[in-house]
Amino acid sequence: MKKVPEPSSQLDTLPVTALKGVGPRVATRLERLGIRTVQDVLFHLPMRYEDRTRVVPMGALRHGEHVVVQGEVDLAEVRFGRRRSLLVRISDGTGALTLRFFHFNAAQKAGFERGRGIRCYGEVRTGAATLEMIHPEYQLIDSQESIVAEDHLTPVYPATGGVHQLTLRALTEQALRYLDGDHTGCLADWLPAELVTEFKMTSLLAALRYVHRPPTNALVESLSEGSHPAQQRLAFEELLAHHLSLRRVRQRASHAAAPILKGSRKLVDTYIKSLPFVLTAAQQCVNSEIQHDLARPHPMARLVQGDVGSGKTVVAACAALTAVEAGYQVALMAPTELLAEQHYRSFSEWLAALDVKLVWHAGKSKGKAREAALQAIGSGAAAIAIGTHALFQEEVVFAKLGLVIIDEQHRFGVHQRLALRDKGREGKSRPHQLVMTATPIPRTLAMTVYADLDTSVIDELPLGREPVKTVVIPQDRREEVIQSVNKACLSGRQAYWVCTLIEESEVLQCQAAEKTVELLAGSLPGLRIGLVHGRQKSAQKESMMAAFKAGDLDLLVATTVIEVGVDVPNASLMIIENPERLGLAQLHQLRGRVGRGRQQSSCVLLYQPPLSDNARDRLAVLRESSDGFEIARRDMELRGPGEVLGTRQTGEMQFHIADLLRDESLLGAVEKAATRLLDSHPGNVDPLIRRWLGESVNYGEV
Ligand code: ADP
Ligand code: MG
Repeated sequence: MKKVPEPSSQLDTLPVTALKGVGPRVATRLERLGIRTVQDVLFHLPMRYEDRTRVVPMGALRHGEHVVVQGEVDLAEVRFGRRRSLLVRISDGTGALTLRFFHFNAAQKAGFERGRGIRCYGEVRTGAATLEMIHPEYQLIDSQESIVAEDHLTPVYPATGGVHQLTLRALTEQALRYLDGDHTGCLADWLPAELVTEFKMTSLLAALRYVHRPPTNALVESLSEGSHPAQQRLAFEELLAHHLSLRRVRQRASHAAAPILKGSRKLVDTYIKSLPFVLTAAQQCVNSEIQHDLARPHPMARLVQGDVGSGKTVVAACAALTAVEAGYQVALMAPTELLAEQHYRSFSEWLAALDVKLVWHAGKSKGKAREAALQAIGSGAAAIAIGTHALFQEEVVFAKLGLVIIDEQHRFGVHQRLALRDKGREGKSRPHQLVMTATPIPRTLAMTVYADLDTSVIDELPLGREPVKTVVIPQDRREEVIQSVNKACLSGRQAYWVCTLIEESEVLQCQAAEKTVELLAGSLPGLRIGLVHGRQKSAQKESMMAAFKAGDLDLLVATTVIEVGVDVPNASLMIIENPERLGLAQLHQLRGRVGRGRQQSSCVLLYQPPLSDNARDRLAVLRESSDGFEIARRDMELRGPGEVLGTRQTGEMQFHIADLLRDESLLGAVEKAATRLLDSHPGNVDPLIRRWLGESVNYGEV
């Protein structure tokens, strides 16, 4: 009888080298995929499947299918067309198919003898004369050989250089054996039995076996949708693990200490009275939620969501002044230098009469100014420091940091935000944290991505705001658009002209903007035209923005640097070139630069035809809606949450099997299960998080 592994040789501690074929070299390569233990092998899940279980008669092939075919070689010849290629015609009595190779050698060509048996796997495509497969996987066989196919669907795993599909298949094959017979106790199910029953879930072992080796009768289509109960069980667990890891952060924070920030309200009240408007009910409501948090001896972790233009900066200023009244310092961080500069300017104006010392600090700060800022922050002379992420570098030491405010947080990653929690930690005490975003996300999603935060929503715009009128116009009517800009500006309005490029290259973006200025200056000699882009010196950008704000410029040509936060209420017209290249949430942000004053504003989306269907849909959403929540929801449908939340680029929130959009319906149950686990089975929480997130991405450890 085989030895039953001891509990200590559970799969989560059994190193992957216990598997046959894994020596130190392979182990190093597997580590790059995050695989260290046998458990990791089991949780390295297929990203898609291939159906090699059936051999399809050639007569029944259809364009687009991935299939196995088997037959005989009729003819092999080299064609010298636009590209040299080897064509191999094969048939099976029901029909024929052409295999096309662009890369081949003489020996390979010689192998395709007339009458030789062949089996291949690939995608069927409509060729010039017959159906084709381009570079199929193939195997030459004895033509008498009977038809043998795989007895389950073939999983395709995420792989990396040096680790092949076949290796991964062999490893999962071995790892799956640990789930059979005597071994079933080796892999703990961290979901308590009552939860599995209550949510009617497939057992963990059955789910793993199924997703690694789906039976012949499973449909590739339904598997690729991810809707099979086995996949849903695993997706549920994965979402639960992510959610729990953020709840851990929250739990830890709730035990941590923070300074009680409760002031006389003298500064705050004076500030509010000095504003040329009254706060909206929503702003007041969020203000009091924040006041309440700040007055507690535990660190606040609050997210304020509010559509573009809802007035988040004023709310931030009230929070900042409360901290200052209580004798603490505030750090306000913005994602771009331009926005940080603008906040600095607004705060300077607001606080001029209040005798509150402000400093500015960004990566580009140099020399004496930089020294002076660091000195003022370190001595406590500066009450509020405003800047970019440079504020959180090592050399910036605050004397008495009580509150950290992060504006437009969706531009920073989840990890970055969590890392900032530790900044300004003194002994056991941590600063309060207020994060603000104009990319509203549905509540259920927020639960997964922002589960460590309390949420407030500014759900109304200041009175008298008219939605921005949006029109979609093709580039061939550009002249017309230019003339309407002319007319608008001559009648006293101000306008933005936004140049976009798909290339991430800032250099190219800036060149495009410079070119546009030249062209527009040529056709609009009567207008005063300015330019801002990311490669200008800070002072240059700042003076451009100041001139535009003061009304000394009519038209501001800009790159997408003005996307977030820029606030010039008199600007009421925006032209966005090539809007089809941007995401919806980004366009909504950009468009939010107008419609900030009382006059009717317009936005022209000047697109380059022809539009793809997806781009057409996106622009239509923007034309028809001005509701940030609705737009964000549609954006996620059209581009996926990873793209919208910016987590795809940073590699955060990369799921093995879950899909935030597809599995949104699971999230309610995930939240319930998380609470239950934390209350009744706290010991299961960390192993579950580790199983899915690994050691490196355990948010709880940040
Ligand atoms: P966002 O939420 O996009 O960051 P801002 O804080 O930049 O919005 O505010 C947008 C504009 O609305 C600013 O010009 C600001 O002064 C103004 N504003 C803020 N609150 C109010 C209010 N209650 N009534 C009128 N205007 C307001
Ligand atoms: Mg803002």
